[in-house]
Amino acid sequence: MFVGHEAIALAGRAKTPRISLGTWFLAVQFLDLLWPIFLLLGWEHVRISPGITKLTPLDFYDYPITHSLVGALGWSVAFGVGYRILTRGKGERRGALLLGAGVFSHWILDLVVHTDDLPILVRGPYVGLGLWNVPVAAVSLETVLFALGIFLYLRATRARDAIGRWGFWSLFGLLYVLWLSASFGPPPPDERTLAWVGLLSWLFVPWAWWVDRHRTYLG
Ligand SMILES: [Zn+2]
Repeated sequence: MFVGHEAIALAGRAKTPRISLGTWFLAVQFLDLLWPIFLLLGWEHVRISPGITKLTPLDFYDYPITHSLVGALGWSVAFGVGYRILTRGKGERRGALLLGAGVFSHWILDLVVHTDDLPILVRGPYVGLGLWNVPVAAVSLETVLFALGIFLYLRATRARDAIGRWGFWSLFGLLYVLWLSASFGPPPPDERTLAWVGLLSWLFVPWAWWVDRHRTYLG
């Protein structure tokens, strides 16, 4: 799942006056942002295997640190605690709890689309509802979530200037196009390239923060 995660970020931002959309992006994509780093370090592994699901050509056979249930719970707690420490207690407890839940929402949404490759513990048992094998349903679900997130965010904020308006639409337009091309385009050439390209998704965090700063929160 990809843009479905951003939908949670948009909805979360709409409900939290003091937490930037950038922080929310970091939270909901935290597992996928760590993943390319761990791939490059050789701590986790993926295989390009066209046809393994009808939608994604990736065989996620080894990623327990980022994508096991226990791992996801650990990262969620760490993120919430980290937020509290970095904001030196000024960040409300509610905000820390919501961001932690945002990190964990990634695993729940992945569970819906992944085939049974998500480990509960480090070495299984493996779970996944496999919506990637029903492309129409997978694409519709993510698109509806994405549209809903955008609706909630636009209702809760107003653009102050051109960055707030066009920066927003270019960010979310690009995310949607990237997701569609990753889903229906050719598979990545090799695992290393996949990991390096994956690292580029870090750029969306400051972009979201920047756009959000140019919008007024209405509540
Ligand atoms: Zn993921």
